[in-house]
Amino acid sequence: MTFSFNIKDIQNKRHDLINKLNYVTDDQEKKDIMISLRNYYYMLMFSDSFLRKVLYNFQNRKYKNFDCEKTQNDTNYLQYLVEIAEICRHGHLDSYYKELDRKEITLDETIKLTKEFFEFLGDDEYCTYVDKILNPNNHLLHIRKKQILCDRLHGLAINDFINRNSYCVMQEKNTLWDMKTLCHELIHAIEFQFNKKINASIHTNCFGYKEVPAFFIEQIIKEFIFSTKYYFRFKNDIEQLLKNRTISIKEDSIDIMHEIFMTVAEKRSKENRTDFILPEMRSVTYDIKDFYESGDIEAIMEEKLWEKLQFVGSYVISRTMANIYKEDKLKGLKLLKKIMSVLSPSEMHKVLLEYDITEDSLISTSKQIYPEYGEYQKIR
Ligand SMILES: [Zn+2]
Repeated sequence: MTFSFNIKDIQNKRHDLINKLNYVTDDQEKKDIMISLRNYYYMLMFSDSFLRKVLYNFQNRKYKNFDCEKTQNDTNYLQYLVEIAEICRHGHLDSYYKELDRKEITLDETIKLTKEFFEFLGDDEYCTYVDKILNPNNHLLHIRKKQILCDRLHGLAINDFINRNSYCVMQEKNTLWDMKTLCHELIHAIEFQFNKKINASIHTNCFGYKEVPAFFIEQIIKEFIFSTKYYFRFKNDIEQLLKNRTISIKEDSIDIMHEIFMTVAEKRSKENRTDFILPEMRSVTYDIKDFYESGDIEAIMEEKLWEKLQFVGSYVISRTMANIYKEDKLKGLKLLKKIMSVLSPSEMHKVLLEYDITEDSLISTSKQIYPEYGEYQKIR
């Protein structure tokens, strides 16, 4: 099987969008077109028919400034997210991000496993759509051996917001990583396809929360492996993959807290205040209340940090959702669908509340992620 985009078709669609841009007056529609155009550039690049440098400049020039969702200005909500990041930054320091060394899965097997996984997940509509993307004749999936942008990026789902098409690209590694990547990207495509309300700016503004369904799916892959004939073959691999995810979440959390404290420290030093001492990030626990009380929280929250906070928060939410799925498959699937239909963090938390998932219960889930948290709590 060969999976590749149809370059001619992509170029045609791109030209149609460029033409459309000339007469569209609605701002939202313009944004949708611009982002879809950028996405077609991506696809040309990933299929090696376009220069990487050209694309990079194009993207940086045009798509930097988007308004973030206003939940960002809710101090209590930010405190909640910062608290989660603060908890998540504690954990195994000796653990590290690891590639899987087994090289024993062919592409055919990856495709087969992926289809079986979606059958296991239990939604017929999703299965039909997954079959469509995984049919090489439809050219919706592009698989390449070479890296995609950077070594941590193994796949991408790419949307055309005008024609409402979704495409996936994946780097083939011939390990279980391929199946995880494919399932992760497919759920992004499913979210886009089954949620007619999504437009480009919403998808960009909620960047971090976009990962909730995908992180959830990663947890369910473990359920799938553990309850099927694949247990002996893939048990260790799936555990390593999930461990890699928690490591990346911890690293993001360290970055967030580092950024926050560096900014506060700089401000304090300008004010000649000596009561705030910058802690050594990896070993000392500081009192987070000092930060809240300083009133600096909104000021420091730049778009980049906000996205990372959402990313960490999403992971904690996905773990809680997976626990619900483990206890009651139908209930978990229904929750997933509801989460995929919301358009903002505040709407998402409303849905979570319907399932008794409060911010407090999410904070307690985050404490279970790293076993060392107990130690941190003692100091606190
Ligand atoms: Zn993703």
